[in-house]
Amino acid sequence: MELLTRFAQRFGAEPEGVWAAPGRVNLIGEHTDYNEGFALPFAIDRHTRAAARRRTDDTVRVASSAAGFAPVEIALDEADPEKIEGWAAYPLGVLLVLRGLGHRVPGLDIMVESEVPVGAGLSSSAALCCSVALAVNELAGLGLSPQALVEITRQAENQVAGAPTGPLDQSASLLGVRDAAVLLDCRTLAAEPLPLGLDAAGLTILVLDTRAEHAHCDGGYAARRAGCEQAARTLGVPALRDLTEDELTGRARHLLDPRSYRLVRHVVTENARVLETAALLESSGPGAIGPLLTASHASLRDDFQVSCAELDAAVEAALGAGALGARMTGGGFGGSAIALVPVPAAEAVAEAVTARFAVEGFAEPSVFAVRADEAAHRLL
Ligand code: ADP
Ligand code: MG
Repeated sequence: MELLTRFAQRFGAEPEGVWAAPGRVNLIGEHTDYNEGFALPFAIDRHTRAAARRRTDDTVRVASSAAGFAPVEIALDEADPEKIEGWAAYPLGVLLVLRGLGHRVPGLDIMVESEVPVGAGLSSSAALCCSVALAVNELAGLGLSPQALVEITRQAENQVAGAPTGPLDQSASLLGVRDAAVLLDCRTLAAEPLPLGLDAAGLTILVLDTRAEHAHCDGGYAARRAGCEQAARTLGVPALRDLTEDELTGRARHLLDPRSYRLVRHVVTENARVLETAALLESSGPGAIGPLLTASHASLRDDFQVSCAELDAAVEAALGAGALGARMTGGGFGGSAIALVPVPAAEAVAEAVTARFAVEGFAEPSVFAVRADEAAHRLL
């Protein structure tokens, strides 16, 4: 493994272990997590791997193939979480959050490499945090459960990296189950694996990575989140999760301005779609959920307004070429869409999306199939 060689070259010793954490696809349930609602993500067969070794002092050095292997170095005792910038805020954030909670974290050398495309909406950031969290958990003998690590890695993203995400990405990476999606209640953090049954149904899920950077609209995510929280206060509910569909069409319509109303309508209807998707998976199998995926996209595009031209084109082209359903996945403003596709149509769908992007003058998309994979684990 190249990672081992690189580690030894850079740090002058073998790592004590290698831990792998998957990226994720969210099947349905977008922008519901921070509203304490429901989501149905699955861990994918693309991982970030972290090789790590304890040190005898309290220095941490962390390097990544995606950042030219040049280590970022801090002394744990002196580190100020507010002052850590750039990509290293994710892995160092995990260590600092653990320390902040009173755990003993030793000095470490860490090197990461990733197959999860960065910034493509497949949660490379959570995969990075979770791979490092597993490494530290084991090397420092912390004995924390995957559920506890969900909270810690989320805090690292929120508080140190400054990304106000909900628990969705971290839960998928740490709690995923092979060939299953995880029905996640983002209020209780209860996670229930639901078998997907894609193979038996002759279906596959394609990722349509638009290569449109979602970072260019950084403020968009935080603004939507703030809009939802404000609407919940106006409506006098703890979170939008608590609003029923009847209340949506009743008092919410009178109390909210039109823009807030549409944000709320997305969240309430999306929660309902997640639960309906879960029920349909169980009763009828994955072939039945396509229309719900497509309805989710329409709601994100029209009501929540977090889609973009590339995502809309990818979804439209996939549906036109035989996908049973398609939607943007992840926070939006670029990144990836997914399409639920009969295996024999997969090639035609990939070609249609690529051709459509060429016609529109967009950058060439990257289209690949993903499988639902197991949770983060020790590799070596
Ligand atoms: P996503 O999680 O959808 O890929 P984010 O914007 O949430 O997109 O996270 C991307 C950021 O995470 C990158 O800009 C970088 O700072 C960090 N990151 C993710 N994976 C790696 C990696 N393998 N090496 C270095 N930094 C990474
Ligand atoms: Mg992320």
